[in-house]
Amino acid sequence: MARFNDDPAQMAALRSRLRAWYRQNRRDLPWRRSTDPYAIWVSEIMLQQTRVAVVVDRYQEFMQRFPTLVALALATEQEVLAMWSGLGYYRRARMLHKTAQFVAEHLGGNLPARAEELQALPGIGAYTAAAVASIAHAEPVAVVDGNVERVLCRLAGWDAGSRKGGGAALRRKIEALAARLLDPAHPGDSNQAIMELGATVCAPRGPQCLLCPLQPDCKTRGEHKTPKRAPMTSRIVAYALSVRTGKHRGPGWREVLLQQRPADHSVMPGMWELPSLIRADLSPGQVRMTVRHAIMQVNYYVRIRTVFEDDIDALTVAGGDRLWAPLRDVPGMALTGLARKVLARAHLLPAPPLDTLAPAPESPQ
Ligand code: SF4
Repeated sequence: MARFNDDPAQMAALRSRLRAWYRQNRRDLPWRRSTDPYAIWVSEIMLQQTRVAVVVDRYQEFMQRFPTLVALALATEQEVLAMWSGLGYYRRARMLHKTAQFVAEHLGGNLPARAEELQALPGIGAYTAAAVASIAHAEPVAVVDGNVERVLCRLAGWDAGSRKGGGAALRRKIEALAARLLDPAHPGDSNQAIMELGATVCAPRGPQCLLCPLQPDCKTRGEHKTPKRAPMTSRIVAYALSVRTGKHRGPGWREVLLQQRPADHSVMPGMWELPSLIRADLSPGQVRMTVRHAIMQVNYYVRIRTVFEDDIDALTVAGGDRLWAPLRDVPGMALTGLARKVLARAHLLPAPPLDTLAPAPESPQ
């Protein structure tokens, strides 16, 4: 068979093989059991820049807590951030919440059906609009995310690295090819098929070409250029863990000292974290635990020191609102992913899912 040449017969064959492959290989994911546009919208936002394994549990908890768009709109931002804690990229949660409030207030709580109308809403971009409209309403509009872009560039033999500089022209070619490859009779499955192929077979590194339904027509078959990973850097930081009992509150009552990040801060505004220590160069005897936490391209080696209440002012960096938070209330607070991780390791919170303990490249925003 000829390698990729973009003729209509080849497109039809690719479409059909892709669909058959998806029917046999699609992962059973909770959002794939629903055609509710709100549920699909939430999943698409969560899945941006976050691994499926991390999203699965968090998605189900989020949907139990906010089963409808109106329930989400009526929540406070702190409640939404609390349910998002550990997923990173908190700006996504804020935008999701604000858009839900807009839709509840101006559109009676109903998301528009068409991609064009969805994209006109504040906080919904072209990718999300196409995904929701095609999956929930079978609108024949192609999605292009990072996975789709990689698969199509490899299939057609285009150098994805050339996006720098001549990027707009290549982007238009990719979008046009995605539209030609879309199965108009099954646009939702067709879009999910190519995204699934990129996520599971045509992976960024080590594509499994022998398992790929596009392999007979693929121009590169693994012989593509692989973009270099940005190098990780390391930083050492240190935080105070202060826990006090409240005998006047009854037996077993415990509170932990948390500090709120300023509301106008560009990084994780309004979220709760442990107070920073003035000095990170602790002696081995002062380190209660060390936690590794990755944010973007930085590996943080986090040292945690137990600090008694009387020493807090002398040892920690002043600033931000502080709160002695009862441990029973802490799980429902908008904690940073790192604070949640440390408190879980100290057995002060239920442990997060194992996968979220891995140093995933989160964003702090
Ligand atoms: S044959 Fe290999 S490189 Fe080509 S699309 Fe399939 S997995 Fe990707």
